[in-house]
Amino acid sequence: MTSLFSSPGRWLKGNLHTHTTNSDGHLTPAEIGRVYRDAGYDFLAITDHGRFTDPGPVQDAGLVAIPGMECHAGTNAAGELHHVVALGISEAVRVEPEHGLQGLIDAIREANGHAVLAHPYWHGCTSADLLEADGWFALEVYNQVCQAFIARGESSETWDQVLGAGRQVWGLAVDDCHHAGPDIFGGWVWVKTDEPTAPGIMQSLLSGRFYASSGPKILSVERDGDRVRVRCSPAQTIALIGKGSSGHACHAPVGELIEEAELDWGRARDYVRLVVRDERGRGAWCNPEFV
Ligand SMILES: [Zn+2]
Ligand SMILES: [Zn+2]
Repeated sequence: MTSLFSSPGRWLKGNLHTHTTNSDGHLTPAEIGRVYRDAGYDFLAITDHGRFTDPGPVQDAGLVAIPGMECHAGTNAAGELHHVVALGISEAVRVEPEHGLQGLIDAIREANGHAVLAHPYWHGCTSADLLEADGWFALEVYNQVCQAFIARGESSETWDQVLGAGRQVWGLAVDDCHHAGPDIFGGWVWVKTDEPTAPGIMQSLLSGRFYASSGPKILSVERDGDRVRVRCSPAQTIALIGKGSSGHACHAPVGELIEEAELDWGRARDYVRLVVRDERGRGAWCNPEFV
């Protein structure tokens, strides 16, 4: 976490979950590419339901395109289909009727892709569901369309349960944009890389060299022994979270905001992740470091 902010490299902003008219989205691939480019994004993954959309129009719009697809199979604890986003695929994922969650993840890997467990809180996917499966590298800690329409966008608790079980997986924030209305520009990742290409961005994603945000910006994280100094955009809360009841939070006085905090790393057990919360409750989530 500390090395992410002190090491060299460029910060690139991207959205890794988007739908187009090729599934149930309202804009064409070319239109969605231009909309994100005009908003200052550097990369975009189109992830249509059950269909591999050609990323060419996104590249033509001037963005780095991460080839992707959202796949569905099996049944979760709430009796709903699993939703898994495949990133970095070289071909369409072949989903078979008999696939459960593990079969689907294996099919994504066969398509040279990397699996993200989408919006767990939104569709009632529990940490027990997630822990049954191997071979996935991230979950969506924040999903804007789920927040916009039923206020179930954040899956922090599920993430903490999975981390607490010893799984080293990362947290993405995404739009899952369908309508380009309240479901756009609400969740993104800042990736650190020297190589602004799809393989370069995928490499940073897989190694956790990014942080997720729905609003706040993290400027620096400096660690000296057990003391961690965090600087960020104006925030209500800056906190370190660890396994179980462990962690350390710093809050702004009522009616004020803070732009830095000194936290005690030693109070987090087994793993440490940083979260910044602004005055509207929007978050910035760093990936965990295991201790
Ligand atoms: Zn979904
Ligand atoms: Zn989706």
